[in-house]
Amino acid sequence: MIKASYYDMHIHLYEYKDPEKAVATPDTVLVAVSDDLDSLMKTIELSKSYDNVIPCAGYHPWNFRNNGSLSEAEQVARLAYRYDINCVGEVGLDKKFVPRSTLPAQVRVLKTFLDLARETNSYVTIHSPNAWRDVLTLLVESGVEKAMFHWYTGPLNLIDEIVSKGYYISINPAIMIQEKHVKVAEYTPLEYIVFESDGPYVYRGMELNPGLIPKSISTVAGLKQTSVEVVRETAARNSIRLLYG
Ligand SMILES: [Zn+2]
Repeated sequence: MIKASYYDMHIHLYEYKDPEKAVATPDTVLVAVSDDLDSLMKTIELSKSYDNVIPCAGYHPWNFRNNGSLSEAEQVARLAYRYDINCVGEVGLDKKFVPRSTLPAQVRVLKTFLDLARETNSYVTIHSPNAWRDVLTLLVESGVEKAMFHWYTGPLNLIDEIVSKGYYISINPAIMIQEKHVKVAEYTPLEYIVFESDGPYVYRGMELNPGLIPKSISTVAGLKQTSVEVVRETAARNSIRLLYG
């Protein structure tokens, strides 16, 4: 188990030109997602070089915006078994940015990875724009126990169902500028919140990176009218449960 004060539960480390910069964030574990075969191999290499990097195997729904391939997705899942990877992502469904005609293929890929997660007791990090309920239904059907809806911006009332199934919501540094995400953080019980950067993505001019997580934590502490330390400790405990529970 890797212990730290902060857990970035969703970062695209392989996308950094200089990964050292992200990896050097003080006292932080980086849960590094991959999006396809190439990024999986890069992410595995990074996890060999840095003790605070946990690799995840996934096939991003955005692959279906152009050249999505079921066989590549299956290959990624097979490698996850071979390399004994206990984290699945980035996977999910996307009804907002990806053509609806690809939905059956997206569902097939997601089911493959949910089976993998159940069999390996892995943590799953979920992408679900406009498909929050569809993904929740598939998660429950699959029997996956440890999942997190990354950068959740869906309906507030669905959060009740998500947490009642024991799944988590991640808060992104976008909370500093995205009103919808503030509402999500206000609504979600602290016992079901973890933090992420989704770095190195740039959101409305904000360069997302793990160094912003302490600021996200203090924003949530303000919303919940509690101390920064309570939010940090609770999020760390939640993260450990997802990664190692
Ligand atoms: Zn992402």
